[in-house]
Amino acid sequence: MFNTVPGYEGTSPEGSGGGFVPPPDAGLPYRPGNPAPAQTEWNIPSISEDTARDALVQYASSKCCYSTKPAETLVFSNLESHNTYRYRLETFTESRSTEWAHELYRGQPVDAYTQPPPAPWAIPAKAPTMFKDATQEIKIPNTAYVKPCHTCTGMGMIPCTKCARCGSKQCWVCNGSRVRAGGESCHHCNGSGRTTCDGCNGTGLNSCNTCKGKGQLLVYIRLKIKWKNNVDDFVVDQESGFPINRVSAVTGKKVFVDKQHMVSPAVGSPDPDISKAAKRLVRQHHAKFASTYRILQQRQTIELIPITKASYSFQEKDYTYFVYGAEHKVYTEDYPAKCCCCTII
Ligand SMILES: [Zn+2]
Ligand SMILES: [Zn+2]
Ligand SMILES: [Zn+2]
Repeated sequence: MFNTVPGYEGTSPEGSGGGFVPPPDAGLPYRPGNPAPAQTEWNIPSISEDTARDALVQYASSKCCYSTKPAETLVFSNLESHNTYRYRLETFTESRSTEWAHELYRGQPVDAYTQPPPAPWAIPAKAPTMFKDATQEIKIPNTAYVKPCHTCTGMGMIPCTKCARCGSKQCWVCNGSRVRAGGESCHHCNGSGRTTCDGCNGTGLNSCNTCKGKGQLLVYIRLKIKWKNNVDDFVVDQESGFPINRVSAVTGKKVFVDKQHMVSPAVGSPDPDISKAAKRLVRQHHAKFASTYRILQQRQTIELIPITKASYSFQEKDYTYFVYGAEHKVYTEDYPAKCCCCTII
């Protein structure tokens, strides 16, 4: 019986081997494309009082029992822009792995050893949509053969688990004693002490589920292709008191987009921390992915995330809140009228 297929010696039908296959061009040195040109216009004006107010009204009405009244009537003392930047590096990779697979044998073509199978990375796959995760499974040509089913060793039948193959079991009425209370012979088992096993109708065997009783399986090597978009972000913390991790929930204004097979870290970025992060992440992604995956494309983006700190007074007390992202989300710790209705008890 065949145990190995040329070019796939590490993949064994007994379950060992197989797995991840690095691309033949793995580990190539980092060859970035041309550096993307610098962006000149980075700034956007801070939001207006009306926008800031609307955002707070929306926020208050989204909470079940916040009154929108303070938001509607507040008086702004200051609107301060604390805009920040987000750098995002996306590396779209393809990985390939092999494994043995089996299916019912119904007379499918058996092609192992007719010709050498193609190498894992020589097999054409569907064209992926860039930066979208996806998978594909392909039966590798010239690897299929028929072998006896491993569950029933080719018998097509397996011992009944209910009766351990003997076809009968102890009578539940007389507990195997053949007689009932009073010495009368047990009618249920006709005095034999045993009844026919209902798991196998007394044969002691059941049809094998793995091969559906055929005794044979078609085994072949399956190629699994995985496309994955690997994303890393860096956000500049302007230390304005705004919890910077909240930025991950919003979008900003894209001020720089660069898409290439391999990008060169963005130059001329608006913040030195962004340039540093770009260099670090580009290097990290190359080290992490280039040796074992195939990098299909990279994209780096710089977004300006609008953050406005709004200060206002309400009933002679001072408050602040932040409006952030293109979505104008609100972050506040001290909204004046929480639980307007819950407190009336
Ligand atoms: Zn009985
Ligand atoms: Zn049985
Ligand atoms: Zn079987």
